[in-house]
Amino acid sequence: MRKKIVAGNWKMNMTLDEGQKLTSEIVNMFKDEAVTDVIAVLNPPFPHIFPVKKLIGDTPGIALGSQNCSNKESGAFTGEVSAKILASFGVEYVILGHSERREYFKEDNELLAAKVKQALANGLTPIFCCGESLEIRMAETHESNVKFQLTASLFDLSPEEMAKVVIAYEPIWAIGTGKTATADQAQEMHAALRRHISSKYGRDLADSISILYGGSANPGNAKELFSKADVDGGLIGGASLKSRDFLDIIKSF
Ligand code: PEP
Repeated sequence: MRKKIVAGNWKMNMTLDEGQKLTSEIVNMFKDEAVTDVIAVLNPPFPHIFPVKKLIGDTPGIALGSQNCSNKESGAFTGEVSAKILASFGVEYVILGHSERREYFKEDNELLAAKVKQALANGLTPIFCCGESLEIRMAETHESNVKFQLTASLFDLSPEEMAKVVIAYEPIWAIGTGKTATADQAQEMHAALRRHISSKYGRDLADSISILYGGSANPGNAKELFSKADVDGGLIGGASLKSRDFLDIIKSF
């Protein structure tokens, strides 16, 4: 059985008070509405890590994630945050390779491979993002493009390491645009990625990996997306900033 995961990516939003209010609401609703079987991962900006962890406490089913980590282990890298530091604060997941980091911070496949290694070496679960631009989708080369992102950043991992990775397929043209991939488009790509992982690591391992969909997912479309055989959850941007919407997405399974 694959893990069902709904991860909220707060991006660069939320002051301290806003973040605490949002977290408290999510934790309370999660408990009151007795959500089971789904792991909710909150991925706030770095300064929120400590207070959000305190609010989550040991609530079963809710985990703390980060939006990035360094490719370096430790040392003189001003402004960076290592996987080891994050783990020491109770962080369990880390989003890596988000298209905004690839585009605005020029993170390439090689750098991402190093970040994935750092995350795994420190016990964090990478939520590895991949996805194509609109241009690539129009040229109908999206499948090979996205498969290559996996090959280049993940396929040097041992099977034991690979088994710990979560994948998030996020078509860039759907992120923050209100334009969602159809459930069939998501399923098609998720199945292709699973076959690709299987070609390198075998069927059993590929079948055990959770593949999340990201890109304008909301309470109105999550049910259909999550009904697809290879869609194991979502990476949620905008809708994760509203507790009710985030919970309704979580409850769409
Ligand atoms: C994201 O940034 O990972 C994302 C999916 O954003 P949104 O849900 O706002 O499209």
